[in-house]
Amino acid sequence: MSRLRICLDCSSPVRLRTRQRCHRCHRRTERAALQRPCTRCARLRHLLPDDRCAACRRATAPRKPPKTIRCGSCGEQRRNVGHGLCNRCHQADTDRPFRYAASLARRMQPAPAWWNPLVEFTAARFHPGGTVAVLRETGRLLLAAPSVTPHQLSQQSPAQLSATTNRVLTAFFTDRGLALPHDDAQQRATARRRSYLTAIPEPLSKAVTEFNQTQMSEQERRRRTGRRTLSDITLGTRLRILRDLTVHLLARRQVTGWAEVTTTDLESFLACTPADRHQQTYLMRRFFAWARSRKLVLTDPARGLALGAQPAFTGVVLELAEQRKLFARWARDTTPAHERLVGLLALLHAGSNAEIRSLTVADVDAVRRTVTLIGRPFPTPLDPPTWAALQACLLNRGATGTLNPHVIVTRVTSSRTTPAHTSYLARLLAATGTTPAACRQTRLTELVNDLDPKLTAAALGMNGTGITRYAADNVNRDRLQRRVASPS
Ligand SMILES: [Zn+2]
Ligand SMILES: [Zn+2]
Ligand SMILES: [Zn+2]
Repeated sequence: MSRLRICLDCSSPVRLRTRQRCHRCHRRTERAALQRPCTRCARLRHLLPDDRCAACRRATAPRKPPKTIRCGSCGEQRRNVGHGLCNRCHQADTDRPFRYAASLARRMQPAPAWWNPLVEFTAARFHPGGTVAVLRETGRLLLAAPSVTPHQLSQQSPAQLSATTNRVLTAFFTDRGLALPHDDAQQRATARRRSYLTAIPEPLSKAVTEFNQTQMSEQERRRRTGRRTLSDITLGTRLRILRDLTVHLLARRQVTGWAEVTTTDLESFLACTPADRHQQTYLMRRFFAWARSRKLVLTDPARGLALGAQPAFTGVVLELAEQRKLFARWARDTTPAHERLVGLLALLHAGSNAEIRSLTVADVDAVRRTVTLIGRPFPTPLDPPTWAALQACLLNRGATGTLNPHVIVTRVTSSRTTPAHTSYLARLLAATGTTPAACRQTRLTELVNDLDPKLTAAALGMNGTGITRYAADNVNRDRLQRRVASPS
C-alpha cells in the first residue's frame, strides 16, 4: 500500500513519481506555458504560425458571405434556421408548435392527458410563435413537477408564468371543466370592498362590515330569484361613502358608536360635497334604517335629512353641423370599419359602450337586418349605412380567423373570448374629436325631446328616472351653465 502524493492544484493523487501534479493539471500547466503575447493585441494566447492569436486572425480576415439556402417555403435565398426554411417561414410554420409539443411530450413521460388538447386549443388562437411560447412555459413547469395539477398551474406566480400563458391555461382548464371559472372583475370588486372596510376606524367598522354582509346576501338572493342586482360599482360606492362619513365623524369629535351620531353630524358631512347630496342622503337613510332594525341606534338620525336634487344632465350634445360631418365620415367606405360601426351605432341608435362592445355575431339577424343589443327588449333595425359598416366589420373579423364571438375584436382580444376593453371605443373615435358617449347622449336627448321619454325608455330598455335627465330643460340648463362658466 503506497501513499500517493496529492496534486498541487487539486486534491487528486499523483501517480508518477517525477511529477508534482496529477495528469490533468499537468497537461493544463504544460499547455498554458506555451502561450505567448500576440503581436497584434498583446494578450497572452496560443499563437498561430504568423504570431497572431486566432481572434486577431478572424478580425482581420475578409468577411465570408453568409451561408444561404433556397427556402423550402418562400423560395428566396435566405439563411437556413432549420427544416430547410428561412427564419420568417420557420416562425410562421403552422406545424412547428405541434413538432415542439411532441418533442416536449417525449421528455415528460408521461405527458398529462390534457397536453394534446392544450396544444390544439392554443394553436387555434395564437400564431405559431405565441403558441410555442405558451407551450414552452407550461412544459418547463411540467418537467420540473410532473404531478402538478391544473389548479396549481393556474395559481402560479407571475415569475413562473407570464400573464398570457396564465390566461390561456385558465381559459383552457375552465373550458374543459378541469378548473372552476374565476372572475377577475369580481375578485377586483371584492378587493376594493375589503380595502374600504379596512379603512373604516375601529369603533364604527363592525356595523359597516355587517351592513356589507347584509347587502351582499341580499344581492345573492336577488340573483337566485332572477331579479335585477346592483352593480359592483354601486356596492363599492356605498362603502366608500360610509368610509368617508366615518373618517369625517372621527375627525370632528370622539365617537364610540353609531348611536352617538346626530343629524347635525350628517348635515356637516353632506355640506362637504353638495353635488353628491342626493346619493349620500339616500345611502344614509338606508344604512340607519338597517342599523335601527338591528337595534344599533335607537333613533334614526338620517330621517330628518332632505334628499338633494337628482343629478342633472352633465354630458355634451353635438351641434347639428357636427353630427352631419361625423355621419358623412362614417358613411364612407374608406373610414376604418370599427370606427364606422361604433360611431353610427352610438350616433344613430344611441348604443352604449357596453351594448356595442358586447355585440356578438350571433346577435346579428341577416334576414331582418337587425341586431340584438344587450338589455334592449326588441331587436334594433339597422339603417343601410350602419348595416354596411357592420358587414365591413364582419368581413375583417372573418379574415383574422378569430374564435372570439364578438363583432368588435381587437388585436388583444383576438385570442380570447372577452369583449374589447372599455376604453377601446373612445380611443377609436378620438381622431374625430368626439366620444361614443357624446354621440349617444346627443341621440338620447333628441329621442326624449322629439318623441316621448316613456316610449324612448321602453324602446332602449332604460328606466324612466334615468332618461328624464335628457329632457330639454335639464340639457338647456346644463349647457347654458357650461357656457357661462367658460366664456370662449
Ligand atoms: Zn490536479
Ligand atoms: Zn491577438
Ligand atoms: Zn422562407
